[in-house]
Amino acid sequence: MENCLFCKIVEKTIPAQVIFEDDDTLAFRDINPVAPVHILLVPKKHLENILGLDAALAQAMHASLKKITEQEKLAQGFRVVANTGEHGGQTVYHLHWHILSGRHMGWPPG
Ligand code: 5GP
Ligand code: ZN
Repeated sequence: MENCLFCKIVEKTIPAQVIFEDDDTLAFRDINPVAPVHILLVPKKHLENILGLDAALAQAMHASLKKITEQEKLAQGFRVVANTGEHGGQTVYHLHWHILSGRHMGWPPG
């Protein structure tokens, strides 16, 4: 989609530190990490938010999540966050799962 930051990262017209890629998904390091490990996992197809996921793409995202947590050795634990809409704190309107780890995350998130 035109003028979508994460579509441009998927198309590789904007650089990112990519850590995982397959046919349907891409994962790269967040430019402004809020934890020692802060990865963004996105579908290559432009979807505004998590509500647009269909079963096939949800399965692909989940499969990538599993591979990334193994690859990045996150067995001690991690948090997956999908900020959605204004009250959810979403700033980039291309679905992304934040994968946060490397420290205790605390609860509630604030
Ligand atoms: P949201 O606030 O929509 O849940 O998350 C958007 C995330 O994208 C933020 O954590 C922000 O730091 C990250 N981000 C924004 N612009 C860029 C960029 O150009 N490259 C990368 N790697 N991350 C970005
Ligand atoms: Zn997009």
